[in-house]
Amino acid sequence: MTAITLIQGDITQQSVDAIVNAANSSLLGGGGVDGAIHRRGGPAILAECRDLRASRYGRGLPTGQAVATTAGNLDARWVIHTVGPRFTREENRSELLASCYRESLRIADELGARTVAFPAVSAGIYGWPMEDAARIAVETVRESVRETESAIEEVRFVLFDEQAYEAFARHVR
Ligand code: ADP
Repeated sequence: MTAITLIQGDITQQSVDAIVNAANSSLLGGGGVDGAIHRRGGPAILAECRDLRASRYGRGLPTGQAVATTAGNLDARWVIHTVGPRFTREENRSELLASCYRESLRIADELGARTVAFPAVSAGIYGWPMEDAARIAVETVRESVRETESAIEEVRFVLFDEQAYEAFARHVR
């Protein structure tokens, strides 16, 4: 059984096997969670992201997909980068947001991660209303770990502020 837990805090401070990054398709850094991960994680993460762009993802990582790198100076083994949909622009946006969580968990399981931390993907710069982002996140993770019989022991949502924490708490309870 995978435990789904919540904490209010900074995702870059979490001691977990894998930290999920709300990246953009360039994989070359940005604001929000992405900026914080690269700042704290140091240049090794960005160097791996550049290699991924040069090899597998010449056009960038598509929305809804995920890819792992090592975690540089962070207290984690891997960073799993996923690209959330923008709230305004994308068709099938709810399905794409769910896919971010499913794909990140699939990769985490492949890597053998036992603990995984997620931010509220798409709920910052990409403009998703927190309540809806929280519902999709929690429902998708719950379904996904059950359907895949995941070996992950803990999926931890790390919410930056109280409003985000409360929104997630309404769905985790
Ligand atoms: P996106 O571009 O997918 O919307 P953002 O990084 O802009 O991603 O925001 C996603 C969520 O993460 C927002 O709720 C934002 O407040 C929150 N956030 C920003 N920095 C951090 C951090 N260091 N740790 C945890 N959550 C963060």
